[in-house]
Amino acid sequence: MTKQNHKQALTDPLFKKVTEAAKELNVECYVIGGFVRDYLLKGGRPKDIDIVVVGSGIALAKKIASKLPGKPKVSSFKNFGTAMIRTDHIELEFVGARKESYHRDSRKPVVEDGTLEDDQKRRDFTINALALSLNEANYGDLLDPFEGVIDLKRELIRTPLEPDITYSDDPLRMMRAIRFATQLGFRIDPKSLDAISRNKERIQIISKERIVEELHKIMASTKPSVGFSLLHKTELLPFILPELVALQGIEEIEGQRHKDNFWHTLEVVDNICETTDDLWLRWAALLHDIGKAPTKKFHKKIGWTFHGHEFVGSKMVYKLFKRLKMPLNDKMKFVQKMVLMSSRPIVLAEDYATDSAVRRLVFDAGDYVDDLMTLCEADITTKNPKKQRKYKNNFKMVRQKIKEVEDRDHIRNFQPPVTGEEIMKTFDLKPSKEIGIIKDTIKEAILEGEIPNEYKAAKKLMIQKGKELGLKIRS
Ligand code: ATP
Repeated sequence: MTKQNHKQALTDPLFKKVTEAAKELNVECYVIGGFVRDYLLKGGRPKDIDIVVVGSGIALAKKIASKLPGKPKVSSFKNFGTAMIRTDHIELEFVGARKESYHRDSRKPVVEDGTLEDDQKRRDFTINALALSLNEANYGDLLDPFEGVIDLKRELIRTPLEPDITYSDDPLRMMRAIRFATQLGFRIDPKSLDAISRNKERIQIISKERIVEELHKIMASTKPSVGFSLLHKTELLPFILPELVALQGIEEIEGQRHKDNFWHTLEVVDNICETTDDLWLRWAALLHDIGKAPTKKFHKKIGWTFHGHEFVGSKMVYKLFKRLKMPLNDKMKFVQKMVLMSSRPIVLAEDYATDSAVRRLVFDAGDYVDDLMTLCEADITTKNPKKQRKYKNNFKMVRQKIKEVEDRDHIRNFQPPVTGEEIMKTFDLKPSKEIGIIKDTIKEAILEGEIPNEYKAAKKLMIQKGKELGLKIRS
């Protein structure tokens, strides 16, 4: 087979410097991995470049940096034999070619120096093992010992070695296979898929952080359901997100069935990906129904219920984030809030939405009311076109009402028009429960639409309520 040449991928002047430096050190080096894969797939020139050096990656990086304008800093990690240079437009990562062997109970491989081919063998997939030469003699030649180019054409994720070895050596690769299949829309080789199922338990030796990184990438893709179906099919999902697995299945009692909330959830996630890139809103869609498994009940008269699943689900979000070592910060609180409120707009859309109900929704959701509506619109998965149209229209009307109520009453991020301090001054009060009662009365009257969200009307009500409570106005 004639060697393909891809000089045109390597036109950035930086590559010439790499070639020069490698020649001076008398080492060979190659661009490898994602850069080559994405270049061949999409023709772009990715900004993250991995370079494998048959020799010391750190020494080559230092030599290159010394030749570059401004002599950029080299960050090196001696333990891993890797180095990185960041310029204004590109990130170059260097690693010495390695030969690796692993022990069963550890992710720590025994590492020795190796040839380019040794290094390509330890890569996860054939499409990630493609290398372009940066050496003068064969600059731009594609080195593809495992038919990665053919796999790119047939859209296939396949391991360079026996899949059982590749996955058992580093079980994170099972997640990576599924992530790449989702991102690229590729199939996973059936042999690989079987090996993933066989090795699924080994995922437990992988750190939560690395698993979550892959989950985020699946969630950031255009159709995350592809990834979650594969995680389900290979039975990796119970080790990662058992809460989702618990939603799977349809039960029937006395002829009454409920929907399969696992597959429904995946549809909701795909739907929301069409309207938002917000990773955390996508996570909210993934988790919005997790409280349904523990709250499911059958009642003879009314059939299946999931009472309080939103509250239970929001509590489960905390535990799930904690277990997966995800941030327990405002992002988690946002997901919790979305899960907790996920049924509120639906109730509004089913019936005529009164102004006061809309005002309460805006009050409770605050700045997140638009996100909440986006989530609820994605939650419409009925296959009945008439119902589908009806719900969509209703949500449109709720959105319109939210806007009207907002323009008029400014309820979002509500600040009481009369402060506690003013109440104390007016009635000559020390801190006491009466202040809370008056404040609540004003808030409720505004939310019910009995008075506008304005100072004058609120003050009038304050005085009226104070009198009712037997308080005297300070003279
Ligand atoms: P992306 O940047 O989209 O995640 P990438 O292929 O550049 O894609 P990286 O995680 O940056 O992904 O990895 C760079 C290269 O390193 C891969 O293309 C692959 O060759 C190799 N690699 C990364 N992780 C592993 C792994 N766990 N096992 C084997 N090879 C790996």
